Amino acid sequence: MYTDLQLHIDGEWLNGSNRRTEEVINPANGKALANLPHATKADLDRALSSAEKGLAVWRAMTPYDRAKIMRKAADLVRERAEKIATIMTLEQGKVFPEARMETMTTADIFDWFAEEGRRAYGRIVPGRMKNTRQLVIQEPVGVAAAFTPWNFPALTPARKIAAALAAGCAIIVKASEETPGSCVELVRCLVDAGLPKGVCNLVFGVPAEVSEHLIGSDVVRKISFTGSVPVGKHLAGLAAKGMKRATMELGGHSPVVVFADADPEKTADTIAAFKYRNAGQVCISPTRFYVQEGVYDRFLKRFTEYAKNIKLGDGLEKGTTMGPLANPRRLDAMEAIVNDSKARGGKIVTGGKRHGNQGYFFEPTVITDLPDDSKLMTEEPFGPIAPIVTFKTFDEVVERANSLPFGLAAYAFTSSTQTATMIGDAIQSGMVGVNSIMISTPETPFGGIKDSGYGHEGGIEGLEAYTNKKFISQA
Ligand code: NAD
Repeated sequence: MYTDLQLHIDGEWLNGSNRRTEEVINPANGKALANLPHATKADLDRALSSAEKGLAVWRAMTPYDRAKIMRKAADLVRERAEKIATIMTLEQGKVFPEARMETMTTADIFDWFAEEGRRAYGRIVPGRMKNTRQLVIQEPVGVAAAFTPWNFPALTPARKIAAALAAGCAIIVKASEETPGSCVELVRCLVDAGLPKGVCNLVFGVPAEVSEHLIGSDVVRKISFTGSVPVGKHLAGLAAKGMKRATMELGGHSPVVVFADADPEKTADTIAAFKYRNAGQVCISPTRFYVQEGVYDRFLKRFTEYAKNIKLGDGLEKGTTMGPLANPRRLDAMEAIVNDSKARGGKIVTGGKRHGNQGYFFEPTVITDLPDDSKLMTEEPFGPIAPIVTFKTFDEVVERANSLPFGLAAYAFTSSTQTATMIGDAIQSGMVGVNSIMISTPETPFGGIKDSGYGHEGGIEGLEAYTNKKFISQA
């Protein structure tokens, strides 16, 4: 049911013979699924020189021809969606319908970028003298190196690969060693769609060793990383040393502001479903809930009911609505958060502990009465724990919402158009959902400010991240 885990370098699928390997674990039962080969230094060097050659071939093709291959790959992802989603659930834990939706969105990302690559327009700037042309054109930035995490094992690599390919770049991807199978299948779709060899190489290994080797190489001109703030800052430093372009999609701590004029039940249903998606292991997951006093009790009641009705279990079992956490580190983190919350006077309204004795399950949890400086209110939980507190005024909640060093996503609910406009303007965040949770689509820019990183994926900004602007003055 799982897949054959291999590296993909210079058009060849490589297995574990003579290479170090590591076990990939199913988080629903803690059992090994397969062994993943690690790239050797020689493998990484081969990937680098192959990407250099791949770049020459790929950038020489027209965006029209590149789009045909990318669209074919998107079609293959859709055709193979059941298989890819099964692999994803096995290695990551998310429930099958979520895995399937992620797979379909992955295909959409390839379609969208295939077309956007054909619209990588330049411009003509009127000259100061007669008979001159001042042209601004976009060129591929070169070979990119991408590092992706375990929470969205297909979608995150797709965002980087699709944008790079659309811009005419070659790419080396180091996907997560904990959830490698989804990305292996994604690269298989690209290869089967006819992507020339060397254009997309896939490697695995010890993350710090691989990233240092690739970012340190002169071949690589662009870095893209999705993951935690400390690792992002470290990689941004390595990129800066080599004067390399970088996109950093790091952690967040999304505030949710529910004003008293919002429908508390409808809002609770919407935002609770979004909170417990992927067991809360999402960088744009709603994290701190500020509810205005007039609707606090109703909101809390409905949100808690939602949490209590969640069916925990193996994501491949029908009817399961939340799977396990992806790895044992998250279980430890949840326990530390609950302990700190109790010590800081927090009340556990529901959940608060591990579920079962196999796999990495943690109960959907709601905590109230927490001070703003507690662990849960200040550190990214990346798990199924929701703190819900009250606020009185607009100015007060804006100050509290903007008080952390993160700025990735934020949400607000109100029935007043004026409040909607004011809160959209006041929140310091890369993305704000006002009466909406639709802040991540292939065609819109996704990215953070402050410690949440810089640069965008998705939208025209996502393509620009892989292009250099060149000015040609022609007399
Ligand atoms: P971590 O900080 O060890 O790793 C985060 C990711 O970075 C992993 O995918 C890991 O393989 C990769 N990584 C680690 N060191 C690296 C290096 N030197 N070079 C390249 N890649 C490297 O932590 P973790 O336990 O995997 O996750 C913990 C925290 O990371 C979470 O609480 C969350 O805040 C954050 N995270 C964020 C995202 C996101 O979507 N922004 C995804 C996964 C994890």
